[in-house]
Amino acid sequence: MQFAEFAARASEIEAEPADLATVALVRDLFCDAGDDLPVVTRFVQGRVFPAWDSTTLDIGPRLLREAIARAAGQNVTADDVEDRLADAGEIGSVAAAYDFGGQQGLAAFSGGTNDGLTVNEVDETLRDLAAASGPGSEDRKLNTLFGLFNRASSSEAKYLARLVLGEMRIGVGAGTVRDAVAEAFLADFESATEESEDDEGGPKDDDAEDRSKDDDAEDRPKDDDTEDTADDADEPTTYATDEQLAAVERALQVSNDYGMVAVTARDEGKEGLKAVHLEVGRPVQAMLAQAGTVTDALDEWDEAAVERKFDGARVQVHVAPDDASADDGEDVSLYSRNMDDVTDALPEIVEFVEDHVDVPVILDGEVVAVDDDGAPLPFQEVLRRFRRKHDVGRMREEVRVELHAFDCLHADSEDLLDAPVTERHARLAEVLADTNAVSDLLVSEDADEIAAFEEASLDAGHEGIMLKNPDSTYSPGNRGKNWLKRKPDVETVDLVVTGAEWGEGRRANHLGTFLLSARDESGDGDYATIGKVATGITDEELAELSDLLEPEIVSEDGQTVELNPSVVFEVGYEEIQRSPTYSSGYALRFPRFIAVREDKTPDDADSLDRIERLAESQ
Ligand code: AMP
Repeated sequence: MQFAEFAARASEIEAEPADLATVALVRDLFCDAGDDLPVVTRFVQGRVFPAWDSTTLDIGPRLLREAIARAAGQNVTADDVEDRLADAGEIGSVAAAYDFGGQQGLAAFSGGTNDGLTVNEVDETLRDLAAASGPGSEDRKLNTLFGLFNRASSSEAKYLARLVLGEMRIGVGAGTVRDAVAEAFLADFESATEESEDDEGGPKDDDAEDRSKDDDAEDRPKDDDTEDTADDADEPTTYATDEQLAAVERALQVSNDYGMVAVTARDEGKEGLKAVHLEVGRPVQAMLAQAGTVTDALDEWDEAAVERKFDGARVQVHVAPDDASADDGEDVSLYSRNMDDVTDALPEIVEFVEDHVDVPVILDGEVVAVDDDGAPLPFQEVLRRFRRKHDVGRMREEVRVELHAFDCLHADSEDLLDAPVTERHARLAEVLADTNAVSDLLVSEDADEIAAFEEASLDAGHEGIMLKNPDSTYSPGNRGKNWLKRKPDVETVDLVVTGAEWGEGRRANHLGTFLLSARDESGDGDYATIGKVATGITDEELAELSDLLEPEIVSEDGQTVELNPSVVFEVGYEEIQRSPTYSSGYALRFPRFIAVREDKTPDDADSLDRIERLAESQ
């Protein structure tokens, strides 16, 4: 495909406001791309390399301005280009405004020809640029870019300039490409289009055609929807069926290679897409978490898989099959959450994995900085190590890091994305047997047990806990509801203990559940009840609390005692809800004992006013 043709199509796509029509234009472009399909699939997203490949062109805006200025003629300087850029705000329209034609005669000097640029040639040239390094590479890059612009028409220059900076700005993100691939190569879009004209079929959402991309701008920014995944791009913009879209989405998740997926869909159809597998050395997007609570987790799944939430940096560990010819260290690669290769920055993690893993795997985990006793250090510490290219040895001495692995996506030639959390964790434990790098996993339906796990996690210096649906699969790139990060209590409240209940079983001699009240200034100088706390208290603390509170018992009724208000508890909670159960009209959701506030009297406890304000501010 001529690059001029690509530019003309890109311009049409950029001008099209409606989502459905945009997908149709991209679909047609893919259908016409022939051998250039993989490149075109990347170019429409402003990419030269596949999403999994962190190689960059390494061409800064300054070099680009210089190249444009040179190609624009002798009277144009990089400063002129910069001035125009300040007005226009984006490099594409600046490049398009110059007339590069006058320089055609120089093409021979820059190694080009007077024939039009092709998509393939632009791709190869930009890849060569990315590979250029060492002394003189800046000049070589400048010359090569000059050569490209020198042969570009105004429209070609516009998209070439944007491509060089990695931002196409034509409103095509990951979701559009997915839809267009499904529509081009899996769906019967021609008959679907005809049917919709007869008002009998067409896209699943009748509004889709009316919904302009501008109207939608807030939800789906036209220029930067590269992050849109199936989740946020699931409004129908295509004639493809859910099943067809899912087939493409799945292959994209597994491979992160839009070009390869488009070619596979075209040449091998749905069956071909199904056969796309994870590959060691090709990072996948990390599964993400939403904020959530223990109550949310147990309400939704009955039981939760609970892990510590490590405060570090995400890392994906790839161990390639043993290759006798490879030098030591070449089998292990580490990738960041953004799929950048961070192997060289973390030699001790590489050594650890080399020493302990003897099958090909892809693991997911967190790298945490630790002190001399192995206790976790704040997140900022690990950042000092993570992307470091220089002085790695010295920093290794300064900041110690450890791997905490929590997932296993691939082991010994088997993809595990579709296996449940519990099975993946079991495989992880096998892979890293006899190490302390595997995160503990508690599967429980008991909120108290989970609270105790959380407390232990916090006590050990971790950030909190992760709650995972034990049956859920690994969904790369998705921030779904199957992983919940439990937010630490945002606020705590100081409440007066106005009642209690005797415990049961081995706790029968102790007060076990404590009735909590806020000061009610509007009432008769009284206290208004707001909930009961029984969670987060150790056996030892229970004994101490009983000693403290028994002298305050005013009356007893069966298990229940009324207490003289004298002791103040600091209590954490997940939410304050309106509730008819307690006299305050509020209830604490998931209250957790934190400490006795020995420094506070009931007069210093929180008032109902504050509770109301906290409830409103949630
Ligand atoms: P946040 O960065 O606050 O959105 O929390 C999600 C992040 O917590 C993940 O992307 C991981 O990097 C990190 N994390 C720490 N521990 C775990 C764990 N056990 N399971 C999953 N993610 C974890």
